[in-house]
Amino acid sequence: MHGNDISLWIAELKLWPLIVVLALNLLFRKYGAAATRKRMSSLYHAIAVFLIISMAGFVVARGLTDIYLYAGVAVVVVLFIIFRKRVFPYQLSCPLCHVRLDFKTIYFIDDNLCASCRDGEKVQKDVSDEDTA
Ligand SMILES: [Zn+2]
Repeated sequence: MHGNDISLWIAELKLWPLIVVLALNLLFRKYGAAATRKRMSSLYHAIAVFLIISMAGFVVARGLTDIYLYAGVAVVVVLFIIFRKRVFPYQLSCPLCHVRLDFKTIYFIDDNLCASCRDGEKVQKDVSDEDTA
């Protein structure tokens, strides 16, 4: 409890956790505008990982105890709770028909709709476009 084992462990990982999160962020390019919100939340996750790595490095460099790391992580967690709608925009099931969603939709696609509901919305939009034309 009075050591800095956890900070040392995180600091020894160097920037690899951040590189993994940013590599995941690159996958969002494939989905373009349909994944804008979730791509931003992925960036917030990367910022959180960077802050935690930085705090661990700071604790090790200054010879402090892990309590300072826990305090910093608590601040990050509180910020995540305050901004939870932006940081965790994920839903496990479709809001219209409550079907369980696949991983691609949960992690990447902003509308959180299953394939059939998305098609239904598209048909409705096309019909309303024809009405106005
Ligand atoms: Zn649905």
